[in-house]
Amino acid sequence: MKLYPDGLESRDAELWDAALETLARTYRTGRHEVAAAIRTNSGAIHTGVHIAGSAGRSSICAEGMALGAVLIGSDSTVPLSDEIDTVIAVLYRPDEHGATVRTIAPCGVCRELLFDYAPNSWGYVYDWGTTSLQPTLHTTEPETERGFSGSPTIAGGHARRILIRDLLPGKNLRDW
Ligand SMILES: [Zn+2]
Repeated sequence: MKLYPDGLESRDAELWDAALETLARTYRTGRHEVAAAIRTNSGAIHTGVHIAGSAGRSSICAEGMALGAVLIGSDSTVPLSDEIDTVIAVLYRPDEHGATVRTIAPCGVCRELLFDYAPNSWGYVYDWGTTSLQPTLHTTEPETERGFSGSPTIAGGHARRILIRDLLPGKNLRDW
């Protein structure tokens, strides 16, 4: 079984593993579908998970949660922009054929946030390739346990490493 997505650089294998392990413990359909992992320049890895709210705007993305974890867990004398090396986000998606995992590109809000705090760090986007679009799943399951078991397969498509500042061409660097 394939362990890593096409396009994932070998230096980021641990980062993928950390995000996937976090998602395996926290996943809930419709609520906690994405986990993110950030590696700092000191080599530490911090993770965060998506928290959906019933009012869409109240939702918080995994990338923002991971940024907060870096802030809490890193040297207070080092600016985040000098601390963050790479961020990756992983999506778990069950369907009638089983379950897949893949990288997922930062949403527009996360692009803004990552650009503000770490424009020279690296992230991942996802190229669909020949993979067909997957339907969004909705559930009315009551809150029970979190996490998933088993070994999801790696979705088709391609993970592509990209500089965060290239996610928002033309956006001005924030001087803070
Ligand atoms: Zn986002």
